[in-house]
Amino acid sequence: MEQQSARAQKGEIEFRRKLFNQQVEGESVFEDEFDGKEISKILGERMKKTLEQMTLLKGKNIVRPPFVEIGAERCQRSLVMENDLDTAGAAVDISYDMLKSCDYYKGVFNKNKVPFRICCDANKLPFMTGSIPFVFCYQTLHHFPDPTPIVKEIYRVLSPGGYFAVNEEPFKKVLYVNLYKGKKIYSKEPAKTSKVGNIFNFFFSKTNCNEVKYGVIENERIPIGVWRQALSGFEDKQVFLRAIKNIKSELFNPTNYLKFLFAYLFGGEIHGICRKPGNSIPKDISIKDILICPVCRETGQESKLIQKERGILCSVCASEFPIVDGIVFLFSSGKFQELYPEIFNNANIKK
Ligand SMILES: [Zn+2]
Repeated sequence: MEQQSARAQKGEIEFRRKLFNQQVEGESVFEDEFDGKEISKILGERMKKTLEQMTLLKGKNIVRPPFVEIGAERCQRSLVMENDLDTAGAAVDISYDMLKSCDYYKGVFNKNKVPFRICCDANKLPFMTGSIPFVFCYQTLHHFPDPTPIVKEIYRVLSPGGYFAVNEEPFKKVLYVNLYKGKKIYSKEPAKTSKVGNIFNFFFSKTNCNEVKYGVIENERIPIGVWRQALSGFEDKQVFLRAIKNIKSELFNPTNYLKFLFAYLFGGEIHGICRKPGNSIPKDISIKDILICPVCRETGQESKLIQKERGILCSVCASEFPIVDGIVFLFSSGKFQELYPEIFNNANIKK
């Protein structure tokens, strides 16, 4: 299993810092990325969709607190969970700037409560094994070379009987020849491409975007088999492959082989819910009760963390994890020093 490299992690942090400067501070950094007004409109649409989806899942008793959102970025979806679904939880991301921008978007979208925000590595989630009833992510797992280690880590932290909801992740299309570098995605360019151009791009070009220049991984080519293997440990798997608009197939035990074949050839988006076997969902716990020390974790120990005034303290190794602008930094010492050297140097972390 290939892990996300330090270069990709630093790229995420650097690229998203620049996005913050452009979209929150109003600086002009990228000509072809959205400005504050444009991104707010998109976030509003995403929030609307999340509210619809999560309301449905809450009705089925799948959404239960505390939730964890992986790759939460600006926390727009976690804001919906906290304020519109009255479900408390944690927003997790490797980018401090994206998590910080939650304060800004809270105002834009007129929300009161913010999620508990944790800056950490998704490979090492700082939660006790078997403690979280509901984990979800949108457009996150394809930022890793292989989704398998992240799914494994999500599985670990889920409580028995807990659910994982995966949304809007790409899967590989087989009909594909890489002839030229494509137009940029997630920026303003694709809107201007003609229909024929879009079809041509679909078959012959590789996805290209500003993120990639910074070393961020955009893994559009995760094979169906990898997704299947990564999610195989769950039970009650309701996961779907959506290829072009309305063609939808089950990932596991497809009922319509023609639709499955179509999805296999044309690629598309994967989404669904999976349940961890067992049944022991915790009641009335707060995310702060189940945090573990990332330094002790390196030695295989799960040590509880205690919230103090200045930061969060490990009762075993005495490391003090800083809280900056409401964001808790929970990295092992090596990773912390590598990704956020200035904050690390001011903190009291055991090596
Ligand atoms: Zn510790």
